Amino acid sequence: MSAVLDLVRPDLKDFRAYSSARREAVDGQIWLNANECPWPPPGGNDLLNRYPDPQPPPLRAALADLYGVRANEVLVTRGSDEAMDLLCRGFCRAGLDSVLILPPTFGMYEVCARLQGARVERLALSAEDGFRVDADRVADVAGGARLVFLCSPNNPTGSVVDTGAVLSICRALTERALVVLDEAYVEFSARPGALASLNERPDNLVVLRTLSKAHALAAARVGALVGSPELVAWLERLLPPYPVPGPSVRLALAALATDRLHVTRQRIEAIRAERDRLARALDGLRVVRRVFPSQANFLLVACRDHAAALQACERRGVVVRDVSSHPGLDACLRITVGLPEENDRLLAALEEA
Ligand SMILES: *Cc1c(COP(=O)(O)O)cnc(C)c1O
Repeated sequence: MSAVLDLVRPDLKDFRAYSSARREAVDGQIWLNANECPWPPPGGNDLLNRYPDPQPPPLRAALADLYGVRANEVLVTRGSDEAMDLLCRGFCRAGLDSVLILPPTFGMYEVCARLQGARVERLALSAEDGFRVDADRVADVAGGARLVFLCSPNNPTGSVVDTGAVLSICRALTERALVVLDEAYVEFSARPGALASLNERPDNLVVLRTLSKAHALAAARVGALVGSPELVAWLERLLPPYPVPGPSVRLALAALATDRLHVTRQRIEAIRAERDRLARALDGLRVVRRVFPSQANFLLVACRDHAAALQACERRGVVVRDVSSHPGLDACLRITVGLPEENDRLLAALEEA
């Protein structure tokens, strides 16, 4: 048995999933076991009256193919947000266990931990050294944390965690914690993600991927957790009976067809080129103090006068994210890379600030 299963909540070790009609069904032509409506909804759209497969094999296979792993190493979730929640619930006992986060980082790690009643420990990253993740320090402060959340490229800083650092953190925390590497933006990075660069994935590493960003499917809510087959099988038991909506499955499968992936790759290249152009242009503006290097599809920008910058954007109808309340990100905005003409509008607005 995989040692990582020793880290799951002891009270859930033998947890049995709700046994849905779809799971129990074997084969047949006439489906009278799930209290479904025998007709499609009025107005057409077939397939919608039947409950979806909890983990549709074709989507699992397509995601496994995309990420270069085996199908039984993939858990399909409603966006990676659901995976974060699932991990907190599965690994942390309320009031007893903790997670470690490295702020400034994505807010959902803390939200999920707090909802589950888990304590949140922090190791702050600092702008001075480019938000670098020091593997030794992470291992030192991880203490009794059950989960360590790493985000690469990190939201909202755009900085990356070395694969070497991820590996040493995993090694140092073997049998102590599960390392959760969130790679929501890795497609925009110059470096390959962990799944492509590791020949052997440590047992206590899970990687979160999503179709929300590079694949333009934010509204479909399709994410993937990649981990050991034993862990994936166990986490599947914690999911609700029909976690992935049928229409989302079909949209995801369509997006993963070869011709669409080709377009996606071209768009990723376009975003990266725009990101670099935008970074250079922003860097030349009076209102901007610093543009942080980014490997994602957004830029973290420190302003000289952050209120003036925000006001100028607002006047022109350009909406950016104010991240100045994050510790260490005084006067910072996070700006998503848009279409070239949208980025020009942003630049024109900030020029007036
Ligand atoms: C956008 C984002 C996600 C994606 O979440 P989904 O639920 O898959 O849409 C995950 N992690 C980070 C850091 C993000 O910024």
